[in-house]
Amino acid sequence: MKPKNKNYNIVLHGGAGALAPHLYTPQEIKEYKETLEEAMKVGTSLLEKGGSSLQAVIESVVVLENSPLFNAGRGSVFSSDETIEMDASVSCGERVQTGGVTNVTRLKNPVLGAYHVFENSNHALLSGMAADFFCKKAGLEHQNESYFKTEKRLAQLYQAKEKNIVQLDHSDKMGTVGAVAIDGKGNLASATSTGGMTNRYPGRVSDTSIQGAGTYAENGLIAISGTGTGDVFIQNVFAYDMAAMMKYADIPMPEAAQRVLEKLRDKNGSGGLVAIDKFGYAIFPFNTRGMFRAWLDEDGVIQTGIFE
Ligand code: ASP
Repeated sequence: MKPKNKNYNIVLHGGAGALAPHLYTPQEIKEYKETLEEAMKVGTSLLEKGGSSLQAVIESVVVLENSPLFNAGRGSVFSSDETIEMDASVSCGERVQTGGVTNVTRLKNPVLGAYHVFENSNHALLSGMAADFFCKKAGLEHQNESYFKTEKRLAQLYQAKEKNIVQLDHSDKMGTVGAVAIDGKGNLASATSTGGMTNRYPGRVSDTSIQGAGTYAENGLIAISGTGTGDVFIQNVFAYDMAAMMKYADIPMPEAAQRVLEKLRDKNGSGGLVAIDKFGYAIFPFNTRGMFRAWLDEDGVIQTGIFE
């Protein structure tokens, strides 16, 4: 999918999973769609004004992190010790460079922390309290525990503990968030943010913060943001695997995505991704029953979807 008369494109996801219409009230569906639309509006208006793809994906993800509906920033899921640990990354196709934070606990917008690491550190990824502190020193907003903690998420944790499982958020109703974009200069970028998986071991690192696993961008090739069973994404370097299929074997983007998603299923994982190639074509495939998503249609009009 690509808007006809635009020199940019952007597509978002809010997590993939066992999403079925009967699980939602009409009001809930409306709220999800409105929030996705708001995030798209922020991203597209930046791109329309000549802003960079990196700016656009970051600002779109901020909108989703600020909403308690999604598993990122506010509304993040709980680790087994009842703490909130959040991961995020940005990936810049122009520099083929990433910045990320993992297991931050107080940063209001982990994606802004990821950008700060990208722009102002010598490192790819900072973790834990040191990452929180690095961002705090730069004046990035912090919040106390009660901002992130929601009763709904606590109930999910107790259910997961009872069943003794580590649960993907999209087994429920909400998910990790991500965006990919191409701007008027042909620069590709992605940004992804997550609260991880319910009942995960404290300190576990997700694919969301790892370049080549759940996120990747390279100019002249592709920008990718994934969602799903993160440990399988990491073990199989999925985002880079998809990019490499295109780069070294000339496999078309939709087929490369299909292959990655098949492999994900073979390894007992599930999920989806959003991607844009160097020509500005966007795809948003998933191997689950649904994925929160938003894209621009051929006329440049914002569209949203949840179910298959
Ligand atoms: N990939 C995320 C993780 O493993 C979860 C998700 O996409 O919902 O933490």
